[in-house]
Amino acid sequence: MDQPAIIVIGSSNTDMIIRAERIPKPGETILGGRFLTDHGGKGANQAVAAARAGGEVTFVARVGSDVFGDQAIAAWRTDGLAVEHVSRDATAPSGVALIFVSKEGENSIAVAPGANGKLSVPDLHAAREAFATAKVCVMQLETPLATVEAGAKMAADHGLLVILNPAPARPLPVRLLKKISVLTPNESEAELLTGIPVSDVVSAKKAAAALLAKGVRTVVLTLGPRGALIADKDGFRMVPGFKVKAVDTTAAGDVFNGALAVAIAENQSLDAAVRFANAAAALSVTKAGAQPSAPSRRLIEKMMLSGG
Ligand code: ADP
Repeated sequence: MDQPAIIVIGSSNTDMIIRAERIPKPGETILGGRFLTDHGGKGANQAVAAARAGGEVTFVARVGSDVFGDQAIAAWRTDGLAVEHVSRDATAPSGVALIFVSKEGENSIAVAPGANGKLSVPDLHAAREAFATAKVCVMQLETPLATVEAGAKMAADHGLLVILNPAPARPLPVRLLKKISVLTPNESEAELLTGIPVSDVVSAKKAAAALLAKGVRTVVLTLGPRGALIADKDGFRMVPGFKVKAVDTTAAGDVFNGALAVAIAENQSLDAAVRFANAAAALSVTKAGAQPSAPSRRLIEKMMLSGG
C-alpha cells in the first residue's frame, strides 16, 4: 500500500531535563542531579508518531539557526520526515523546555517557544506544494493562532481533512472550529473549550455535543486509559483503550493524534482509526519520553491483534 501523505504543522522543542533530589527553590542550587535531553514539542511529537505509524509526513515548522535546530532536523530525517519546509529563523532561538523532575516525580517546567512563535503564514505558503498531494493536515496550538487559522483554510481549500489537537488548551474562535474536520481534545481541553467539566463518559458526551454545536464536524475526545469518545452526525461511540502498565504518559495525546492521522489518511473508518490510535498511544505510555515512546507500525499492529 502507498504511504498516505500527511502534513503536520506545529512546534518543536528541545526538552532539557534534570532529575534531581527535589525541585530547587528560588535562589537555591542543588548538586547531584542527572541530565538528559529529548526532542519534544507537540508538532514534532505528532509528526514523528505519524511517520512511525506508517505515514509519509511533511513537517512544517520553524527552528532557530542553532545547534538545537540542527539536532532536531537530523533526528526527524532519521525518522523519515520530509523537512524541506522546516524554516530556520535567523534571530529567534529554537524552542526549549527546561524541566526539573523531583525524585517523587513532580515536575516544574518553563518553555521558551522561540522560533515556534514565529511560524508564519508565508511559511505555510512556501509549503503549498505539499498541500497539493497530502490527504490530512494535523495541527496543535503551540504556534501562533493566526498561523493555525491560515493552515486550516489552506488545508480546506486543497480538500484536505483537518485534524486539530487543541493543546495546550486555549479559547478558539468559532470561525476556526467550523473549518475543523476532527477535533481531538483531552478532558481538560474539552472543558476549557465548552465550560463543561469532563470527568466521565456522560460529561464527555455533553462537552462533545457542545463542540459539534459550534460547527466542528467530528469530535474525538480522549479519556486517558478509558480510550476515546467519538461524536459525529451518527451519534456517540466509545472506543475503549488498551490495558497496559503505564510508565510515562508524556506525549500519549501526541502519539494518539499522529497515529489517528495515518489511519484516517488510509481511509480506515473513523472507529477503526480511533482503535489504531488507542493502540499506538497505549504502547507509548509503556515507554519513557516523548518521541522515543512513539511506536512503530509493526508494534501497533501487534498490539491490535493481541488486544493489549
Ligand atoms: P493527553 O495525553 O493529551 O492528556 P489522554 O490522557 O486522554 O490525553 O491520552 C490520550 C490517549 O492515550 C487515550 O485516548 C488513550 O488511547 C491513551 N492512553 C493514555 N493513558 C493511557 C493508559 N494509562 N493506558 C492505556 N492507554 C492510555
